Amino acid sequence: MSDAAAQNIILIGPPGAGKGTQAERLVKSRNMVQLSTGDMLRAAVASGSPIGKKAGALMEAGELVPDEVVVGIIDERLDQDDIKAGGFILDGFPRTTGQAEALDQLLDAKGVSLDHVINMEVDIAALVERITGRFACGDCGAGYHDTFKPTKTAGICDECGGKEFKRRADDNEEAVKTRLDAFHNQTAPLINYYADRGLVRPVDGMASIDEVSQAIEALFAAG
Ligand code: ADP
Ligand code: ADP
Ligand code: ZN
Repeated sequence: MSDAAAQNIILIGPPGAGKGTQAERLVKSRNMVQLSTGDMLRAAVASGSPIGKKAGALMEAGELVPDEVVVGIIDERLDQDDIKAGGFILDGFPRTTGQAEALDQLLDAKGVSLDHVINMEVDIAALVERITGRFACGDCGAGYHDTFKPTKTAGICDECGGKEFKRRADDNEEAVKTRLDAFHNQTAPLINYYADRGLVRPVDGMASIDEVSQAIEALFAAG
């Protein structure tokens, strides 16, 4: 495979591991497409669609939405042509063994392969602070943190100059605990699922945002 060939990846890690932050960077550096089921579900909730109505209360409580809902969303999204040029980043999907099996079938049927499953290893004790300090630009969606990644100028988005920011309804301590349980019980087993196929690449998610990016870029360079 040549250096410039598109590669498709999964980012796995608990809430707050830095999946969205790294995906945002890969979109810029490698022209990849970020497929975040969390973002797609939040858009569905905001639009009041039938999927949003099904998912909203579960998300707010920190529980997973049913597999068939997210698998359906990803199935449709993978049919769009934009994923071909730079490859895709699955961010927050799959999160259960059922979703991973469904993804295998979808990728098989579409003739698409996975190159890396990046396991973002983090210290669980650090996650509550990461999550409760998280906010994003209301206009362009760029992600920030009160302490670890503030805007360069207070109150103004670095990327688009926007002045409205938002915090997620589920970024509170109570919902975070439920989300961490869901991660340990339902998502962590996927690491073995993909390790059996030699796809898992561990990355130290406790390093700085720049260092994590460098580690991930090195995986792409290795092919
Ligand atoms: P985080 O970035 O903190 O890991 P996400 O934005 O990925 O959180 O997900 C937020 C919420 O959306 C989850 O707690 C869950 O309710 C729902 N969700 C997102 N992706 C999935 C998925 N693949 N399966 C089931 N529920 C999901
Ligand atoms: P996830 O998508 O895995 O839930 P995010 O990428 O949204 O996680 O990161 C959670 C919060 O932690 C964000 O506010 C982000 O700015 C911050 N963050 C991300 N990576 C790091 C890092 N390596 N060190 C410190 N803070 C980080
Ligand atoms: Zn912005």
